[in-house]
Amino acid sequence: LTELLEHEQDLPSQTPDGHLMPLMVNTGLAIDAVPSLKKRISGVGLYRTEVPFMITERFPGEQEQTRLYRDQLEGFAPLPVVMRTLDIGGDKDLPYFPIEEANPFLGWRGIRVTLDHPEVLMVQLRAMLRASQGLDNLQVLLPMVTNVDEVDDALRLLDRAVRELGEEGVEVKRPKVGVMLEVPATLYQLDALAERTDFFSVGSNDLTQYLLAVDRNNPRVAELYDACHPAVLSALSRLSGDAHKLEMPLSLCGELAGDPAGALLLMGMGFDSLSMNAPSLPRVRAAIRRVPLDAAQALVQETLCLNTPRAVRDHLISRMTEWQ
Ligand code: PEP
Ligand code: MG
Repeated sequence: LTELLEHEQDLPSQTPDGHLMPLMVNTGLAIDAVPSLKKRISGVGLYRTEVPFMITERFPGEQEQTRLYRDQLEGFAPLPVVMRTLDIGGDKDLPYFPIEEANPFLGWRGIRVTLDHPEVLMVQLRAMLRASQGLDNLQVLLPMVTNVDEVDDALRLLDRAVRELGEEGVEVKRPKVGVMLEVPATLYQLDALAERTDFFSVGSNDLTQYLLAVDRNNPRVAELYDACHPAVLSALSRLSGDAHKLEMPLSLCGELAGDPAGALLLMGMGFDSLSMNAPSLPRVRAAIRRVPLDAAQALVQETLCLNTPRAVRDHLISRMTEWQ
């Protein structure tokens, strides 16, 4: 199938009625195929910085991080690269920084860890800023935000990093900052978050886990874990409307964006961009190129009337078959 779709991969991600749906890519380690990929995407919607940290033997230092980040920023320039600050905890452990907890997904994770260790976050922010020198494509994303205070604290550290570097003779601009919407509480504080930041990116993997109270990695309850649960779709649809009222750019970087039916739903809901693993791009692009925007919007309305994940899945399969 992917081979069949290859010929349209250099064509725009645009519906038959001319609606452009920017597609971005999720990265972690160095990507080999940057030059060919660059023509096909609108940027990096999620660079998971913890991935390179997972293969080292200690926290990489500022120089080392600067090099890693420079590779991403330079490789994809002038396209934007959204770099997420370290998102460890939960299922992502660093061998040299073990976290032992009874409920890791409800525990010390993401920004909770890095705000408790500002020295770690400062090194990372300084490295990102230094790597962005002379380029203009860095954006910073904060993971696992639960409270508005956490954003304020992170922004203070970012300002401090910009100031420190300036004093050292390294002139850098403060980049745009976004919040990951993956803890359900954030959906009810969008206005306060919007006042402080520049964009939102939904982490549908975690948002699904937390809305449904289903561990995303537990095989026993894997059948209950479904981003197409009506409650999740309803939350996403409402969220999209709310974000637009606040004029906040809204993206989604969880697995749902890489599923063709999921991508169509998100487009119909009004998401501004979608970020996915590179191998998902061909099928998502093909789906977008076949389905007019108003049909995707109708699909959202039809789907929001259904009450069970199974009914949603069945409906999506039958529509997708019609559109093939
Ligand atoms: C998510 O939660 O949807 C996400 C994109 O981040 P991660 O999968 O790294 O937690
Ligand atoms: Mg997440």
